Amino acid sequence: MCVSFLFFLTYGDDDCDIHIMLQRNVIAKRSIRRNPSESSMPLPRITRDTALFLDFDGTLVMLADAPDAVVVSQDLHLLLSELAALLQNRLAIVSGRAISVLRELGVGDFTLVGSHGLEIAMANSPIERADRPEALDTVISALEKFAATRAGILVERKPLSVGLHYRLGPQYEGECRTITETLASEHDLFVQKGKMLFEIRPKHGDKGQGIRELMTRRQFSGARPMFIGDDVTDENGFEAVLSLGGDAILVGEPRASAAQFLLAGPAEVVNWLDMARHRMKKAKV
Ligand SMILES: [Mg+2]
Repeated sequence: MCVSFLFFLTYGDDDCDIHIMLQRNVIAKRSIRRNPSESSMPLPRITRDTALFLDFDGTLVMLADAPDAVVVSQDLHLLLSELAALLQNRLAIVSGRAISVLRELGVGDFTLVGSHGLEIAMANSPIERADRPEALDTVISALEKFAATRAGILVERKPLSVGLHYRLGPQYEGECRTITETLASEHDLFVQKGKMLFEIRPKHGDKGQGIRELMTRRQFSGARPMFIGDDVTDENGFEAVLSLGGDAILVGEPRASAAQFLLAGPAEVVNWLDMARHRMKKAKV
């Protein structure tokens, strides 16, 4: 059975209002009207008892041609820092990237879930990490040989997985799919499809698992979880927060998703988080 959700999104700074009919499994309609007010925003409110889980790439920052081309602005860092303080540190970045890379990018000293739930680091704490697959070096070596003869194909080494990016070589998508599926099958690993990316990683672990684990920690337990993400790899996270009585927000173009709500892109996410920050600071509750 399909369940429909009809709602309005408003962006105070952009002076535009997106009216969206979103059905579970089927996105039916999208139109835009002008001059909204914040009071008509039906998105779930971030409140002091929210546990806020945020994907990184494509959610807080625009996707880049190469994974290391992403820049975390000072404004974004400040926004996340203030939100974390307002939420008593119940804010976590939940990413497919390795935690070490998130830290190098200057994401901040927040709780971090990396490598699709296979790594967790509480704020300013060491990384708790699953075992590294024994075959990973063999797989990386094979992918680097593959990429060496195909312009634009990038191999991203991660502590527990390896990503094969074809954003700069989209004509190789089919070959990238074939080699990653073959290698994963040979070494009892799993291919995670992302945006212009095939990632080979252990069969266990996903973002939902990482969120569920955090919700058992004292810092997060008892709060109402909310997860915002853009990719198919975020669907497990959406399902996790929904099963825990929380809210899920998809970022990007409407598509089939477990999420109940939609924001158009990283700029809209940041704007909406900024409004929540100001509202909570003003309310002091
Ligand atoms: Mg993403």
